[in-house]
Amino acid sequence: MSDETPSQFTPRVFSGIKPSGGLTLGNYLGAIKRFVDWQEAGTHETIYCVVDLHAITVWQDPAELHAATREVAAGFIASGIDPTKSVLFNQSQVSAHAELGWIFSCVARVGWMNRMTQFKDKAGANAEKVSLGLYAYPALMASDILLYHATHVPVGEDQKQHVELTRDIAQKFNHDYKVDFFPETRPVIEGPATRVMNLRDGTKKMSKSGESDMERINMTDDADTIAKKFKKAKTDPEPLPETMEGLEGRPEARNLVDIYAGLSGMTDEQVIAEYAGAGWGRFKPALADLAVEKLAPISTEMARLMDDPAEIDRILAHGAEQAREIANPILKRTYEIVGLVGS
Ligand code: ATP
Ligand code: MG
Repeated sequence: MSDETPSQFTPRVFSGIKPSGGLTLGNYLGAIKRFVDWQEAGTHETIYCVVDLHAITVWQDPAELHAATREVAAGFIASGIDPTKSVLFNQSQVSAHAELGWIFSCVARVGWMNRMTQFKDKAGANAEKVSLGLYAYPALMASDILLYHATHVPVGEDQKQHVELTRDIAQKFNHDYKVDFFPETRPVIEGPATRVMNLRDGTKKMSKSGESDMERINMTDDADTIAKKFKKAKTDPEPLPETMEGLEGRPEARNLVDIYAGLSGMTDEQVIAEYAGAGWGRFKPALADLAVEKLAPISTEMARLMDDPAEIDRILAHGAEQAREIANPILKRTYEIVGLVGS
């Protein structure tokens, strides 16, 4: 065994978002807001990535991909990711992601990939026709994380299985090559709104790539659109209950309470205590006002940033340089461990 023991790993956070469309309230509450909390806590190095190589696992129009990459970067910065405190870059500028991704494609087992529920959801009945990249995606995700020896990965609930697979890949690599080179990474899924649901179907996750715009709140939606989407959000006819147990079997009602909690910083219980017995005619406008209050300053700042794409590109290029400094030695050492001849 080498002396590269897990206790030697720097506490480090890594997470990413795909530029597969515009950012949603789910991305904000489940991911970006938490990324900012980690950055501000100052206890860990924080590395955040616009994972463009993941976006192309499904078809992306090149011009739209380009614009969405800058928009996701703008969303990070406008929400409080500070490029002087966190490393912020887009994945394709650091080629080591793809290189380590290949090594991990050779470590991960087909049987592991077959268990991934996201692939089943995204491929649906069409599994034969989707890209090989969509199937292999979790190996590249493991590379994103382990290339920085990241110890903590804040994600929404839907990504838990992929972060667990990352642990399996790290363990198998360490075991097969008799090293303690890659750390055991922890998914961090905390607080309310770790799984924001679709506004038209409370059993499905809100996604940026979902079919209808009415099923999600985009971070760039204006006040009228946000109010309209919450007004039209599916609910049941019952008023809000007195306790959390009263939300059992009411996924749409539960989701709106959860969103309110995520936006306000209250717990679900506190929201229920405040709105016990309220009808939707009272709760939905209050929720819309709260969402506008929180999102409007962010979307204004996003628009300002997107007016200056050269500045966004400069920030991403600088972040990529910082990322390469951490990633390249880890990739080089991985190649040595595997037995690849290099200079
Ligand atoms: P796509 O539909 O293309 O998969 P997405 O909205 O699911 O897009 P991703 O880029 O896949 O976004 O995920 C980025 C981060 O946002 C991940 O940490 C993921 O867990 C989180 N996230 C995505 N959707 C939600 C949601 N509805 N609720 C909470 N977190 C979410
Ligand atoms: Mg997703």
